[in-house]
Amino acid sequence: MTGTNNMFRNLFSDKDKPKKNVEEKKAVKTESVPESKDISVPLCNNPIIIDLKNITQKYNNTGSVTTVFDNFNLSVYDNPDEGQFVVLIGASGCGKSTILRYIAGLQKPTSGEIIIKGKKQTDSDKIGMVFQQYSSLPWRTVMENVALALEIKGVSKTERETRAMEFIKIVGLEGHENKYAKYPILSGGQLQRVAIARNLIANEDILLMDEPFGALDVNTRLKMQDSLVEIWRNTKGDPTIILVTHDLSEAVYLAHHVVILNSNPGRIEEIIKIDLPKMRDSSIKRTSAFSEYVHYLEDVMVKINKSKN
Ligand code: ADP
Repeated sequence: MTGTNNMFRNLFSDKDKPKKNVEEKKAVKTESVPESKDISVPLCNNPIIIDLKNITQKYNNTGSVTTVFDNFNLSVYDNPDEGQFVVLIGASGCGKSTILRYIAGLQKPTSGEIIIKGKKQTDSDKIGMVFQQYSSLPWRTVMENVALALEIKGVSKTERETRAMEFIKIVGLEGHENKYAKYPILSGGQLQRVAIARNLIANEDILLMDEPFGALDVNTRLKMQDSLVEIWRNTKGDPTIILVTHDLSEAVYLAHHVVILNSNPGRIEEIIKIDLPKMRDSSIKRTSAFSEYVHYLEDVMVKINKSKN
């Protein structure tokens, strides 16, 4: 970071409401965005919880080099006592899942640093991720799945089951704890709840979600969006939830900030603060402010896609 102004690239200030006129928004952006690759979420002076610094990702396949990131930067500020949703959207292949894999400790960039809660990530630092595919262990019960991280740490059975039960309740699976975590004993939505609980118990500060509801039918998907808000509200911790989605309505519904990524190389097109009430319920989807945010994201995505053709 080179200065306070460089730390922020939010489209809307706290007081701004979304406006219909996209050109007007662009003007706001041009005025307020300095020429800098330092990109941060959100607008605040809290400590940085996730810092991707000068990330370059190249793949060398049979002589041809693909550059996915070239000096990419993203800083996510912590939001103590509340937590937050940061949603990543962008064209397929722009690097959204790669960003999650870096934070999870599943992939290392060609060069650059990943700093989590102020500490450079080491090989043993892993953060759980909820994937589109159900990732629970089907030969274990819900309780055994949720308690897994504590079992690996050597926590006693009684203690880990007490803790696991807390999280099972938070994700709304009380009564299902002794069932095997497999379809069709549990529904797709329930299996995703198991994955959320399993990851939250391992790390209450950061939860990574890669298209978590992509495989669910529309009704279950909508219910799971509400459940996720509810889970976030009910956790004692204040997790920063980084979620990748292709669904722009889902992005606006869940996000406190939406990061829109462009590709070739992967870069941040815009970061938009979603200035809707922090605690949301589905009635917000019927407000004009909600629709305007969705339309705005559609416009940006169309612009990005047009520039690629
Ligand atoms: P997204 O999640 O935005 O769809 P990904 O993060 O999955 O994108 O992938 C980013 C880019 O990295 C894609 O264009 C993909 O083709 C490229 N990529 C990933 N792995 C390899 C690889 N082993 N060789 C070449 N390119 C790769």
